[in-house]
Amino acid sequence: MRHVIALDVGGTGMKAALVGADGTLLHQARRATQRERGGDAVVETILGFAAELRAYGEEHLGEPAVAAGVAVPGVVDEEAGVVVFAANLGWRNLPMRALLTERLGDIPVALGHDVRTGGLGEGRLGAGKDADRFLFMPLGTGIAGAIGIEGRIEPGAHGSAGEIGHVVVRPGGIDCGCGQRGCLERYASASAVTLAWQAATGDEKATAADCAAAVDAGDGRAVKVWQDAVDALADGLVMALTLLDPRTLIIGGGLAEAGETLFTPLRAAVAERVTFQSPPTIVPAVLGDSAGCLGAGLLAWDLLDRVELDHTAATGSSEVTA
Ligand SMILES: [Zn+2]
Repeated sequence: MRHVIALDVGGTGMKAALVGADGTLLHQARRATQRERGGDAVVETILGFAAELRAYGEEHLGEPAVAAGVAVPGVVDEEAGVVVFAANLGWRNLPMRALLTERLGDIPVALGHDVRTGGLGEGRLGAGKDADRFLFMPLGTGIAGAIGIEGRIEPGAHGSAGEIGHVVVRPGGIDCGCGQRGCLERYASASAVTLAWQAATGDEKATAADCAAAVDAGDGRAVKVWQDAVDALADGLVMALTLLDPRTLIIGGGLAEAGETLFTPLRAAVAERVTFQSPPTIVPAVLGDSAGCLGAGLLAWDLLDRVELDHTAATGSSEVTA
């Protein structure tokens, strides 16, 4: 059966799958990233993992994968197939596509940024299904965004479109790792809520999920911490929707797991702030941590379509050679 290799490389773990043409997951596997071994060792693990997946397809699906897609964190030049910078993984100017192409026997390889690739998955196969314009925002350790436009994700001129976590919502506020102060992700990420709730309770083990549970139980301190995060998030979202006018706003990541504890006040806070703008439908992500892997599979299929179209145009033949 025709299939592609999909790989989602994270700071702690890698998720992989063999994906059919209709988005079906035919095989899944995971592996620890073990980034403490250094950047070169991580690259070698990725190449070895990909080669194993190719062999698995050959043995169990009757043929090796026809293309591969890989999602990685950091600054990614998708056109060149190069990871420009990934602080978490110790990579700088890493020619990931060339390395994988060599290891996988010259099949087309697509490289994508992790959040944009997750957004592609959510937008086409998950919560954004059929939305022509959407914004995907996972609220996790940080906050990033993926701008979906008619089935593709806008990467920007320099590969950094969608970095809404670093929009300043509280000028002069909390220091951010990016060098600014008062960035959205310092107030509305799962990590930010965790820190604020720890400060409010004095409990160093408290989490954002604990805060959400305390909100549901009617704890006044939790309601204050939670509402501060929701207000900051709504301020950032209104900037984004004023600029982009998305039809659907998909919120994912750890904080979205609070469900209506987050979505009910968030919808209200956004509605309070818009004047002339048409508010988007605000929905939770549905694919969880498989969004990146499914998105990587879509990247691979899209690239294969383009390669085969080019081939058809060049030869004048509709015969497909994979
Ligand atoms: Zn920042």
